[in-house]
Amino acid sequence: MAGPKGLKNRGYSHSDVDERRRAVEEFTGARLESISKFCFSSEAASKNIENMIGATQIPLGFAGPVAISGDYAKGEFIVPLATTEGALVASVSRGMSAINESGGARTGVFWDHMTRAPVFRVRDIDHSREIMDWIDANFGVLSDGVKSTTSHGSLHSIEPYPVGRSLFLRFLFDTGDAMGMNMATIATEAACRLIEAETGAVLVSVSGNMCSDKKPAAINMIKGRGKTVAAEALIPADVVERKLGSSTAAIVETGYRKNLVGSAMAVTIGANAHAANMVAAMYIATGQDPAQVVGGSMTVTTFEDSGGDLYAAVRMPSVEVGTVGGGTRLPCQSEALAMMGCLGDGGARKLSEIVAATVLAGEISTIAAQAAGHLGKAHRELGR
Ligand code: NAP
Repeated sequence: MAGPKGLKNRGYSHSDVDERRRAVEEFTGARLESISKFCFSSEAASKNIENMIGATQIPLGFAGPVAISGDYAKGEFIVPLATTEGALVASVSRGMSAINESGGARTGVFWDHMTRAPVFRVRDIDHSREIMDWIDANFGVLSDGVKSTTSHGSLHSIEPYPVGRSLFLRFLFDTGDAMGMNMATIATEAACRLIEAETGAVLVSVSGNMCSDKKPAAINMIKGRGKTVAAEALIPADVVERKLGSSTAAIVETGYRKNLVGSAMAVTIGANAHAANMVAAMYIATGQDPAQVVGGSMTVTTFEDSGGDLYAAVRMPSVEVGTVGGGTRLPCQSEALAMMGCLGDGGARKLSEIVAATVLAGEISTIAAQAAGHLGKAHRELGR
């Protein structure tokens, strides 16, 4: 079938966008009046999209402030959440309120590397060994090759995974405040060219899926990808009752039977109530790559009875966020990052900790609602 007439991707001025949208209107018969209205210059999006015809708007709300005592996030933060799920913002706000009354959330970043894992065709096991030895002996050469592609990124290490006549090399990079996927891909390609030239390995794909990007994957769950972040809070028994309408015992039991046993029964990767909800709303608001919500979905949430008080924690193995580059450059997304003091240099780890604290708040509130039998009521009242 022929495409819409005039659908050329020749530029990003408003008139080009208008012309392209009119062509789509003509082709589809749909009027795109709402899509035609947006507040930023289309040039601003020139590195983020092709065939631009307008913009989709998603309601933006806020939760918080939430008090965080983190390695990088320190203070009180208002958190922007872009969502169409009624009750989500209210639920996260309730969790934050309980956290605040308990002295705030403690957060920390345990690990921080972006990965890219090319796959090579090799002759046999001995060839794999030769290549791995060459990499060990020439790590400095590969690091220099990486340095020629980026001034903010650097090569941290390379993990080899030989299998038959395939050799996977999982490259780990430090990517500064960029989420780092473009940076890591470009840098990995440069290193792969050197490996091919020196070892006779044949690059089949710069991404061999052991990275693993935008797919639920045990390798990311166990080893981490992006930032591995944790958040915890100790909520006094009276705050659990007053703010969350539940009890420590009921929340601990619900967490155990649902988050842990239920997730084991379903064989989920990760064990949580709805971490992806908070991750998606924050990623969309702040210009992260929304496909990487899958990394955030692998959160493990735990609840323990601590002398009658509620100890609550999340471990997020794969928070792939940046505060420069990608969608963060767009004006609305920049403003959302600025709300948390996370725009630009020095913001990425701080942002990852705010993500973890927000996920913790959402987990506490939702499990409390389920423990008290309130989940359906909240959605009936707020979401329908
Ligand atoms: P990017 O927008 O491609 O690059 C970020 C740039 O920011 C780098 O070029 C870096 O320059 C510069 N920079 C300035 N200040 C920095 C700082 N403080 N820390 C780090 N960098 C700084 O962003 P990216 O994070 O590498 O890639 C994100 C984009 O990749 C998203 O749009 C995402 O959707 C997309 N993506 C790509 C792939 C892929 O396979 N290519 C996969 C998934 C997602 P220097 O490098 O020159 O130092």
